[in-house]
Amino acid sequence: MRRHTYDAIVIGAGHNGLCLAAYLQRAGLSTLVLERRHEEGGGVNTEEPVRAGFRHNLHAQYMEFFDVMPMIEDFGLEDLGLRTVMPEAQAGIVFADGRPPVVLHRPDLLERTRASIARYSAADAERYVELKQRAASLQGMVAASLYSPPVAQSLEVQGELLHAVFGDLGVDANFVAKSPRAVIDELFETPELRALLYRATVEWGAPLEEAGLGGMFVTFVMWTMANWKLCLGGTHSLAKAMTQACYREGVDLLESSAVEQVVVEDGRAVGVRVRGGEYRAERVVASNADLRQTLLDLVGPQHLSDRWVRRARAFRYGPSHVLGTTAWCLRDAPAYSAAAIDPDVDRCFYTVVGFDGADDVLRYVRDAYGGRLPERAAAGTWVNSLWDRSQAPPGRHAATGWFFLPKASELTAAEWADVRAHHNDRLLAAWRQVAPNMTPGNVIDHRLYTPDQMEQKNLMREGDFSNGEFAFDQVGANRPFPEAASYRTEIEGLYLCGPSAYPGGGVHAACGYNAFKAIAEDLGLASPERPGRGY
Ligand SMILES: Cc1cc2nc3c(=O)[nH]c(=O)nc-3n(C[C@H](O)[C@H](O)[C@H](O)COP(=O)(O)OP(=O)(O)OC[C@H]3O[C@@H](n4cnc5c(N)ncnc54)[C@H](O)[C@@H]3O)c2cc1C
Repeated sequence: MRRHTYDAIVIGAGHNGLCLAAYLQRAGLSTLVLERRHEEGGGVNTEEPVRAGFRHNLHAQYMEFFDVMPMIEDFGLEDLGLRTVMPEAQAGIVFADGRPPVVLHRPDLLERTRASIARYSAADAERYVELKQRAASLQGMVAASLYSPPVAQSLEVQGELLHAVFGDLGVDANFVAKSPRAVIDELFETPELRALLYRATVEWGAPLEEAGLGGMFVTFVMWTMANWKLCLGGTHSLAKAMTQACYREGVDLLESSAVEQVVVEDGRAVGVRVRGGEYRAERVVASNADLRQTLLDLVGPQHLSDRWVRRARAFRYGPSHVLGTTAWCLRDAPAYSAAAIDPDVDRCFYTVVGFDGADDVLRYVRDAYGGRLPERAAAGTWVNSLWDRSQAPPGRHAATGWFFLPKASELTAAEWADVRAHHNDRLLAAWRQVAPNMTPGNVIDHRLYTPDQMEQKNLMREGDFSNGEFAFDQVGANRPFPEAASYRTEIEGLYLCGPSAYPGGGVHAACGYNAFKAIAEDLGLASPERPGRGY
């Protein structure tokens, strides 16, 4: 018989919830995870949504934090089946009019990156390689800041760091106050390279035109850029390994169990209510769900101060980090015309198609952020079956990609249905211009998965995968708002462990890890930090 009282209850089995649960149980707290869906993982997910045998990562695709993610080492996830590959050519962009592609290679192959950019500009090639190397040298610092609670840092201090590391490259203290776009434009003269960097930057959470996020481009975005791994078997294999780690520690996991209420008694979280029952938590309730659901729906305004209710209501979702996932079952992988100039482009992990240059990317992002369906059906695409034959039937290929789209509430249900019916056809037309074999005859079947569907499926409000807009006032020590930035809430015993908290979206498990640090401090448990690791 399942018990009804635990030391700790975690709401949601996204990868952050699983991470927190594993550390809690290892620290000696009996822990229960309740997940509303039939499977663990949340955005760490792979399905066969179009045709059997063709696997698509409907949410997270490239894994950029695995070298620094503590849980992989601490719980031996590789022994539990986590396997990755890191394709040599990482990010590419192709153009319909025959201009050369730009291809960025992984960090140990920077000479190939240099040669690719140098087709356009030797100066840009030099600067990119130098910036990338210096950003890579910051890995320890970036990792320590990800896997620690946020520290409020003045723009002056951030500026001093930028100047010290990148000053001779023309990156000065005032760059922190600029937008990522202004930084990219000042550093690089090639529109084709700018287009690729714009696109990658927006994906990485730095809205292009938001002043105050310029430092993030030079440090964080340049560190993650083209530093991406692919999970063999699909991103889902990470969720599977984390779930097994939880079971191995002794965590109880219940699927198809939506939490409807956090039970609060005398200002303290003492359990949760699910349909048909209640579970008691003697020490901790932690929520992997988004901020507003956690505070306003599950706890309820009656248990919160006016200030916290106001803060939760003011927290914004989207338009940054709102994507649509396009999934294709193909006979052959795309064969790009640009491969005649650079064959690597046919084996790029991530290939951007549909833009003619940097201005197109800007217009596209402005449209999506402004609530309009972008005029261009342009996408970042990948064909994981090139590296992992398990992801498509023999001789076939599974291609997937992302559009930037308006947040879920901007369109009606009928309008989203219309987008699903037509937008992929527009992408195929654009794809064919750069890869002539992308004809309707090469397509076995396809499907588009839109932000309104992500919202329903994973309760990612507005389809925002960070569960909260990435804007200057909602990042760092302002995330989700200053009083809640330590993962603690004003309800005693209730913690946040999802991406509404710092550092936000992405498969890093830092929200879960940092929430554990806060809980360990409050309950007098041993810290998970390791001396050699530094965090
Ligand atoms: C299209 C797309 C592409 C992405 N690409 C990348 C990428 O390439 N690389 C990368 O690093 N990141 C990527 N991300 C981001 C990444 O997937 C998410 O930021 C990450 O998965 C969030 O993890 P989480 O565990 O915090 O939350 P989630 O994955 O959102 O998990 C939360 C869980 O809580 C459950 N839940 C919610 N409410 C309740 C409730 N009341 N009761 C019980 N359970 C509940 C949900 O069902 C869900 O399982 C992408 C996301 C999307 C949508």
